[in-house]
Amino acid sequence: MTDPRQHIMPTYRPPELVFERGEGMHLFTDDGAAYLDFISGIAVSSLGHSHPVLVSALKEQAEKLWHTSNMFRVPAAEKLAAKMCERSFADRVFFSNSGTEAIEAAIKAARKFHWLNGSPDRHEIITFTGAFHGRSLAAINAGGNPAYLEGFGSRLPGFIQVEWENADALDAAISERTAAILIEPVQGEGGVRALPEVQLTNLRKLCDESGILLIYDEIQCGMGRTGKLFAHEWAENSAPDIMCLAKGIGGGFPFGACLMTEAVGIAMQPGSHGSTYGGNPLAMAVGNVVWDKISDPAFLEQVYEVSQTLEQELEALAKSRPEEVKGVTGKGLLMGLKMTDGPKSLQARAREEGLLTGVAGNNVLRLAPPLIVSEDDIRNAVSILETAMG
Ligand SMILES: *Cc1c(COP(=O)(O)O)cnc(C)c1O
Repeated sequence: MTDPRQHIMPTYRPPELVFERGEGMHLFTDDGAAYLDFISGIAVSSLGHSHPVLVSALKEQAEKLWHTSNMFRVPAAEKLAAKMCERSFADRVFFSNSGTEAIEAAIKAARKFHWLNGSPDRHEIITFTGAFHGRSLAAINAGGNPAYLEGFGSRLPGFIQVEWENADALDAAISERTAAILIEPVQGEGGVRALPEVQLTNLRKLCDESGILLIYDEIQCGMGRTGKLFAHEWAENSAPDIMCLAKGIGGGFPFGACLMTEAVGIAMQPGSHGSTYGGNPLAMAVGNVVWDKISDPAFLEQVYEVSQTLEQELEALAKSRPEEVKGVTGKGLLMGLKMTDGPKSLQARAREEGLLTGVAGNNVLRLAPPLIVSEDDIRNAVSILETAMG
């Protein structure tokens, strides 16, 4: 029999398993087997699968209008942007189709800002080891992961990487060419690492002193995942100039957003940037209801509460398995188990027991359940992990 996957570019290596539908915290195969979802399509399906409110918002819009392009106004995009600005540091929003494109918009806006302000030489973007900002050429250069850069030609100029949590290295990297510092308040792919809160405050101060823009990549850690709407809100006086969102903002419908202050946004004028699909009516219909649900303080409080249980249960598991588990990392509902050996075999065994997880870095099992996860789901998941460890 021919392999049905043979014409798919083999950039991914999924298991044999095929899911037919999803509901809430679970995915189901066509023979009805249920899997508890603790990865949510990599921190995307934050309201769980087939949420009735999301389904009806999408269906309703699908029967009215799918697409006009940004040649015409999209009222639902105007509405969502207004809500985002009302609830954040931002004054302007650019809608994209993905996280990578939100990063592209951020880098372009930061450079254009300095150009407009008479410093065209300020074009360097400083990033950190373990970063992940997407897979476009600019994003892999910003991310700096050698495995993702190999074979794709020369490194792009204008990207400088310094060691995570190394303030001296950061100071040394800053020059009159620095345009912006780009950082994930909680690193996802790089190993589920949360930057200590005070360091975000310090970054803000450093940027203010040196006229550098601060860009947060909250594509994975934002939208309620840490129990606050944005991960940087855990730190005082840490508001960025630019922030990228994606993943959780669409609840599974692909879109991203690049938020910025008026001062930076002024650099982006008609013709500066664009996207055919970005902020299209289907994405915006879903985006508005996702926003309304997740930005609700009561919802965020619930996320925080339940995340405490996840952390406690993982700490207890780590303590009882010192040979396999080296530690617990992450924040809120973006958590990692640092393993002694590669996490892939544990991931596979957990899957056989009905639990879906992810991996990050070389040795971290990544957990990012839908934000609607219950304490019972958490206890089930941790007990499956325990069983899977043997
Ligand atoms: C997933 C991710 C991206 C890229 O988003 P895509 O939607 O895959 O383009 C960028 N930054 C972070 C932190 C991410 O987790």
